[in-house]
Amino acid sequence: MSEHLVRLIPRLHTYRTNEASARAAVLALQKCVKAEEISFFQSGQVEFFDCGSALNHISCPRCGAAVPLDWWQQKMDEHYKSDHFFVLEEDMPCCSKTVSLNDLRYEAPCGFASLCFTVRDPEEAVGQEAVECLSERFGILFRTVEAVY
Ligand SMILES: [Zn+2]
Repeated sequence: MSEHLVRLIPRLHTYRTNEASARAAVLALQKCVKAEEISFFQSGQVEFFDCGSALNHISCPRCGAAVPLDWWQQKMDEHYKSDHFFVLEEDMPCCSKTVSLNDLRYEAPCGFASLCFTVRDPEEAVGQEAVECLSERFGILFRTVEAVY
């Protein structure tokens, strides 16, 4: 059986909060989203949340060029090994601009985070209301990363 996960993550990939605030945010989310389960995950390290399906296309947010997938995979490995994605900036092969791997244009949104709220099998699309609920609560912008496994 497949599982539909909608993850809400802060745009700042190193952002973390305390346990009580995260629990309170889950309760607040439960008021605006009907789902099988809503939970949170927090780690001392940064994790990569993918879109669930194969990534066939990534482009540069500065010049729009396609990012070679083998280059991206190599940089992912290097950043994981060096500091577990704490620093994500890279000089792009296309235009030499410095870009965070978190800001690349992924075919479907992907993202890096230390804090993640997961909505499992929502009854309807998780909309802007849920994103704003978290953004206002924590005073930092959130976004969604959706995956079906
Ligand atoms: Zn570029």
